[in-house]
Amino acid sequence: MTANPGPVAPSRGVLRPVGLHQVRLTGGFWGQRQAVNGTATIEHCREWLDRLGWTGNFRDPDAALRRRGREFSDSEVYKLTEAACWETARPGGHPHGELLAEFTALAAGAQADDGYLHTGYGRPGQPARYSDANFGHELYCAGHLLQAAVAAARTGAAPGLLDVARRAADHACRRFAAEGFCGHPEIEPALVELYRVTGEERYLAQAAAFIERRGRRSLPEHEFGWRYFQDDTPLRDAEVFGGHAVRALYLAIGAVDVAVETGDDDLLASVARQFDRTLARRTYITGGVGSRHLDEAFGDDFALPPDRAYSETCAGVATVMLAHRLLLATGETRYGDVVDRVLHNVIAAAVADDGRSFFYAHTLHQRTPAEVPPAEHEQLRFGGGQRAPWFEVSCCLTNVSRLLASLGTYLVTEDDAGVQIHQYAPMLVAASGLRLQISTGYPEAGEVTVTVLEAPAEERALTLRVPAWAGGGTRVERRVFAAGDEVRLDLAVRPRWTFPDPRVDAVRGCAAVEVGPVVMCAESIDQEDGVRLDELQVDTAVAPEANAVKGRSISPVDDPWPYRDRHTTNRISTTGDEPEPIVVPLVPYHRWARRGPSTMRVWLPTVPS
Ligand SMILES: [Zn+2]
Repeated sequence: MTANPGPVAPSRGVLRPVGLHQVRLTGGFWGQRQAVNGTATIEHCREWLDRLGWTGNFRDPDAALRRRGREFSDSEVYKLTEAACWETARPGGHPHGELLAEFTALAAGAQADDGYLHTGYGRPGQPARYSDANFGHELYCAGHLLQAAVAAARTGAAPGLLDVARRAADHACRRFAAEGFCGHPEIEPALVELYRVTGEERYLAQAAAFIERRGRRSLPEHEFGWRYFQDDTPLRDAEVFGGHAVRALYLAIGAVDVAVETGDDDLLASVARQFDRTLARRTYITGGVGSRHLDEAFGDDFALPPDRAYSETCAGVATVMLAHRLLLATGETRYGDVVDRVLHNVIAAAVADDGRSFFYAHTLHQRTPAEVPPAEHEQLRFGGGQRAPWFEVSCCLTNVSRLLASLGTYLVTEDDAGVQIHQYAPMLVAASGLRLQISTGYPEAGEVTVTVLEAPAEERALTLRVPAWAGGGTRVERRVFAAGDEVRLDLAVRPRWTFPDPRVDAVRGCAAVEVGPVVMCAESIDQEDGVRLDELQVDTAVAPEANAVKGRSISPVDDPWPYRDRHTTNRISTTGDEPEPIVVPLVPYHRWARRGPSTMRVWLPTVPS
């Protein structure tokens, strides 16, 4: 069993997760972001929770008519609690003991005698408990309470929260013993993790029952359809993830957890197959998912319009969580490629440098400069184009925070034979009897040096993931290591052209540039005077440079009607002038919108051949 486990600690699997104390990020790309999360983002979130009354709902639960926030606002208090637990306990973390004591007391104080805990239901003047199966979010919130309590129990950072969570879980198990489930999955992985902490089999059984009950069209009919809630087809019979993206991914996470603990290999294989198909047909180049704004949902296969990319931050967080679980269960290092991509192109893009404003949705093509959101009140919808300090629906902020605080546990695994390093960052690792120091400038540079600080007298295997863009597979060093030994990996971090499958209609005829795991984009602020992002073509016959590509500026014709009786790809000028050759500067996609409002595009139209 792993000591000081992080958020996920399966009892079986090909690889074992490392505990929170086994990895210490020591700077670099992720160490710096983790530090900002600990010193700025957690406090920032707490200020907004207080300001908007979402913590106040717990303090004064009987003031039903004055309850503030949406039906899921309790979950933000729990997710921030989880983040603060990991941050307080991780090596080098920033302590948040006062927040944790206060939030634990809030949850305990608002809990009903029978264990039910939600500030929005069941009191005089409030809707009845469980009266809105589709959108009530009661078990969803309970799930986040359980995950916070798991973090509290594993870190010792918030004594007392586990008791609150057990009473809430016991209530849910009694109430949903025979039927029913929540419109928003989340309690499923939470119950499995609570089972892993407490050994209570009924929590695992309840999670399994929730998953089996779903998919039979038993939720009330809704305009978004049963697919939105993953209630159209039983999960084990589905072929691809669909419906609301975060719901679908949280359900898949819970299903992997259940499958691993119960030995349900069919369920595990089904989820893995659906994830593969989703990656192959329903995922943006950034690793983001969800191309439908109306219902925050997956689109059909290959329906991936860049200017309508929803790609919610939470869906990115959930993809990391799912890929990590499948990596542990199967040992297939290719899942590390998914984590790498999502971390560098969704998670890194989501948070401002100061840790105090955020993207909820991640467009891949900003056609007009966005307004800067006001600092004094929350953004009412998902926004886009500029990071906002808070949202009416603020799920993504606390979600990124808990991921960053526990990030070390996602980078490395171990087994009886040795250590597997899946993600590269400057860090100290203690696993499988080895103490290692990893030095690297990743993702900007591809050299990775693993220095052995301490080693057992027996043979160990050190496995390093080689990203698909550098050839794929793994590099394995197997020997009796000694202190001072070095293992070097040199990944060719070079700019490269990337082309879409022709069935991704929205970007047919376009190309993108990637450098290592980082997707690049063109941002208007960097372009030469007069060059517009919707009037350029890039020349893929010329190799991309580190931060620029060659192309030309075209002069599209403004006809009264934009549809013509022939292809006009080459009809670029009424005057017959040769288009002007230009250099198109690029920046990492995760850096965009940090210098004021701008237009931006990842997919660049190519010069017709
Ligand atoms: Zn979200």
